[in-house]
Amino acid sequence: MNSPTDRSASAGSSPPGEASAGFRPHDHRACVEAGLRHAEEACAARSARFTPVRRRVLEMLLESHAAVGAYELLDRLRAEGWSAQPPVAYRALDFLTEQGFVHRIEARNAFIACSHPGEPHHPAFLICRSCGTVAEEETSPAQSSLGRRARASGFRVERSVMEVEGLCPACAGDGETDGPCG
Ligand SMILES: [Zn+2]
Ligand SMILES: [Zn+2]
Ligand SMILES: [Zn+2]
Repeated sequence: MNSPTDRSASAGSSPPGEASAGFRPHDHRACVEAGLRHAEEACAARSARFTPVRRRVLEMLLESHAAVGAYELLDRLRAEGWSAQPPVAYRALDFLTEQGFVHRIEARNAFIACSHPGEPHHPAFLICRSCGTVAEEETSPAQSSLGRRARASGFRVERSVMEVEGLCPACAGDGETDGPCG
């Protein structure tokens, strides 16, 4: 029996067998800088308004690789003195998501900053149920077995969400990343 595709062919930045950025020690300042720089450049190129509150929400999401809910963001905006009503946070999140700077994590009803800003990609998320860290992997829906099945049955895929929940290496104990199959 085939195991579920958890290592679909990937052109991502993590070579097969290497932990995702969210799960391994790395220079996180580089993530923050890349995320902000990309957003600034993309907004300038698209004539989109990168308002201070939009920028601040993106910065908050870039602070870690954990998913953050809209209400927590709203609370933090208020604590910082923004006169933020709920629509302010929601509109900022809508904008950031539409622009591709932020992804929504459906299973958590929360948001993370994109780990591959500026690259066209189909994200797949590995979500740690213990610490909330989310690693963004890349997937190729069209190449997956489900994608092939959909094509074979004449189903036209318009949107797919790939979210996998479990334990990250740190929370699982000792960095054992191999699955149970083998
Ligand atoms: Zn990082
Ligand atoms: Zn992304
Ligand atoms: Zn964890």
